[in-house]
Amino acid sequence: MRRPYIVGTPRPYPEDSGVDVLMPVDSPVIAVGNGFIIYSEGVGGFGKAHTPWIPTDEYPNDTPGCILLRLDVPVQYGSRSAAYFWYAHLSKLAYRIRDGIDAPRRVAEGMMIGHSGTGRGIPHLHCNLLFDRKQGPNDYIAPFEALKLMQTWKTAR
Ligand SMILES: [Zn+2]
Repeated sequence: MRRPYIVGTPRPYPEDSGVDVLMPVDSPVIAVGNGFIIYSEGVGGFGKAHTPWIPTDEYPNDTPGCILLRLDVPVQYGSRSAAYFWYAHLSKLAYRIRDGIDAPRRVAEGMMIGHSGTGRGIPHLHCNLLFDRKQGPNDYIAPFEALKLMQTWKTAR
């Protein structure tokens, strides 16, 4: 596994569903492991929580891009395993995979899969470890635990 970013500073906060990583807009975002992008899209489609952040009057520059990566080798967490990695607030997607329309895209660990953008007016990448495709309150590894896991992964070159 690799970190999902090359440059960036993790700033998790307890109420979030994942780890926010501060980084300049348009920083490279990379695949944390071998797997398939099963969803990557600008607006709409998947779930309700922390889905694509659509620009609002309050935050007109927010970016809507997101990626759902299904890992070949799930991350073990206690008795559960997290097989999905969710990236949000991207400014650019390397591959657009519309839910239920496009075939999943095979990617290799370390491949660049997009560029970071802005959410809530703050340039950052949002990263979730999900047990399944769902994003309910019991469906993700909590931010500080997820960060611990991410910090044990190798840093991308
Ligand atoms: Zn977040």
